[in-house]
Amino acid sequence: ENTINKIAAGEVIEKPASIVKELVENSIDAGASEISVEVKGGGISYIRIVDNGKGINKEDMGIAFMRHATSKLSSEQELNKLVTLGFRGEALASIAAVSKVEMISKTHDSISGYRIYIEGGKIIEEGEYGCPEGTVVTIRDVFFNTPARLKFLKSESKESMYITDIMQNLAMSHSNISFKYISNGKLVFATRGDGDLKGVILAVYGKQIVKNLIDLNCSRDFITVKGYLGNSNISRGSRNYQSTFINGRYIKNKTITAAVEAAYKSMLTINKFPFFVLHIYVNPEFVDVNVHPAKAEVKFQDEQLIFKSIYHCVKDALISASH
Ligand code: ADP
Ligand code: MG
Repeated sequence: ENTINKIAAGEVIEKPASIVKELVENSIDAGASEISVEVKGGGISYIRIVDNGKGINKEDMGIAFMRHATSKLSSEQELNKLVTLGFRGEALASIAAVSKVEMISKTHDSISGYRIYIEGGKIIEEGEYGCPEGTVVTIRDVFFNTPARLKFLKSESKESMYITDIMQNLAMSHSNISFKYISNGKLVFATRGDGDLKGVILAVYGKQIVKNLIDLNCSRDFITVKGYLGNSNISRGSRNYQSTFINGRYIKNKTITAAVEAAYKSMLTINKFPFFVLHIYVNPEFVDVNVHPAKAEVKFQDEQLIFKSIYHCVKDALISASH
């Protein structure tokens, strides 16, 4: 049972960044408007997520760490529709199987909070605990009981970059949530949670990028595209500054990247890897989500149509910006 859990955990939990993603998504699902994430040593030694969400009852807390425990309805069809960010009630169980986890939580209706401490999937301590409403999850010593997996982690600075990447995407997909992200005692970024995507981009990437953004707001065929494009004068050496969200969820899709880059190319810009943050809204039935929880790739039923729509949206925005 324990071995099965450890193996299954690898499916969801590849690295500390996967833990951060799952925990923050739980906080989002819990309706939090403020989420703070603090990591140390690339998340390998320490991850703490604090949220002001609805919390979890003491009766439910132990259950939440059991495999396939989910308080969220999630038929395969609903997964496909991207209704909820949560996946199949496996995250907490998987995380707890390979680390030391403390969860402290209080709901609005309960008089006291509750705390549970789990090591390698085994409950070590639990009991009433005084705390404010919301949830605090602390993870220590990721993969402490799976040395083989620990060995495969990258350097702390690399793991920390993966976490930053995840945090940037979470912040940009939830501009209405105030995020604070601290790494090794230093504030990396903080967002206001006022719904202003441009403000989030400023917080995440800095002034230089924001000074040169082109607004995008376009509806074509069956999609709506909103977001920002980098000015063609700034050329970046990689695709690290390209983010796509579909119906609020971070995704990867080569067709979209290719469409944006083709639109830039058609304008004869030298910008091979343009900066962009795109929020695409589409009827979920046109998207085939890869249901693997750790993967972000999606496919569209009609990739050619998506290419065309994105291409023209971006091109039109570039043309009007050049006037
Ligand atoms: P899922 O998100 O798919 O339901 P998880 O293993 O991630 O599965 O979480 C299990 C359950 O624990 C959730 O359904 C939720 O009820 C509860 N939970 C986890 N994190 C939080 C949180 N931050 N606030 C409130 N409840 C939470
Ligand atoms: Mg979850």
